[in-house]
Amino acid sequence: MGLVPMRQILDEAAKGGYGVGAFNVNNMEQIQAIMEAANETHSPVIIQASRGALKYSKMIYLKKLMEAAVEEYPHIPVALHLDHGNSPETCKLAIDLGFTSVMMDGSLDESGKVPNSYEQNVEVTRRVVEMAHPLGVTVEGELGCLGGIEDGHGAGLSDSETADHLTDPAQAEDFVAKTGLDALAVAIGTSHGAYKSGRKDPKTGEVLPPALAMDRIHEINKRMPDCHMVMHGSSSVPRELVEIINKYGGKMPGTFGIPIAEIQDGIKHGVRKINVDTDSRLAMTGAIRKVLFEAPEKFDPRDYLKPAREAMKEVYIARMKAFGQAGHATDYKQMTLDEMKERYTAKV
Ligand SMILES: [Zn+2]
Repeated sequence: MGLVPMRQILDEAAKGGYGVGAFNVNNMEQIQAIMEAANETHSPVIIQASRGALKYSKMIYLKKLMEAAVEEYPHIPVALHLDHGNSPETCKLAIDLGFTSVMMDGSLDESGKVPNSYEQNVEVTRRVVEMAHPLGVTVEGELGCLGGIEDGHGAGLSDSETADHLTDPAQAEDFVAKTGLDALAVAIGTSHGAYKSGRKDPKTGEVLPPALAMDRIHEINKRMPDCHMVMHGSSSVPRELVEIINKYGGKMPGTFGIPIAEIQDGIKHGVRKINVDTDSRLAMTGAIRKVLFEAPEKFDPRDYLKPAREAMKEVYIARMKAFGQAGHATDYKQMTLDEMKERYTAKV
């Protein structure tokens, strides 16, 4: 069995009332860690690659690694998704490469740094839906802008600017109707990266949790109960992972993530895809630092990449359990892109 369309994974998650982690990958160890975690917890899973990841892995390598992953675990439904596509051309490239889902991030212009107008966003997202659906490929769009920058992508908005770019629920309804997309990424105050909060306690100087506008998710869910929402920048940045990095020579002060409880509240209200990247990066870096610090004589990459893979796997397992996808791998028969294509054309 090959890769499944992401739409099926999201539809099934909606039926089962759970969320599915979408984990970013750049290399073999990450893909293996995700698949081992999915296999152990019996979870359907979304694996995603950003433009930066495609560049880093030289595309064909990532594709072949993904083929190996589904071949090793045919019972696990896996969707391969393009994270933050910046243009219809980039989305087309990913589809040609075999991705079963693409994100057209029309919230920003093609440079990935400047916010688009609403009309531009509708236009570019609609174009990608028109191209992808006849091929059975899922489309995610984004309305509103997130804070932070990752892989060079993001407008780098400050906390107050992020507040001005939150998703407007009424506009979301119009956006979904006009574009026909499958999944809607919402801006509710999360940011990419490990520093998700600019809020500090004025007395102690301690970093406070980021202020999230969960009410926007509740409102969108009320207006469109069938809309699959996506939470970006949703790593939890666990303190213990940051502490490992700092203990073994790293310097990451002032980090903060999204509490799992907030994500679970989102899942109760229509969030089906949760993007997690930073947490596995932290786990990997911490594990590698620890080995190199404790045993500076070591020089075989396997000596530190193996514990790194294990540390990432632990993070994935924890998220799969927390989001509720664990145990659902064989609830349904995996669909092909051709079957999904028929479903899209039947709707028109
Ligand atoms: Zn994102």
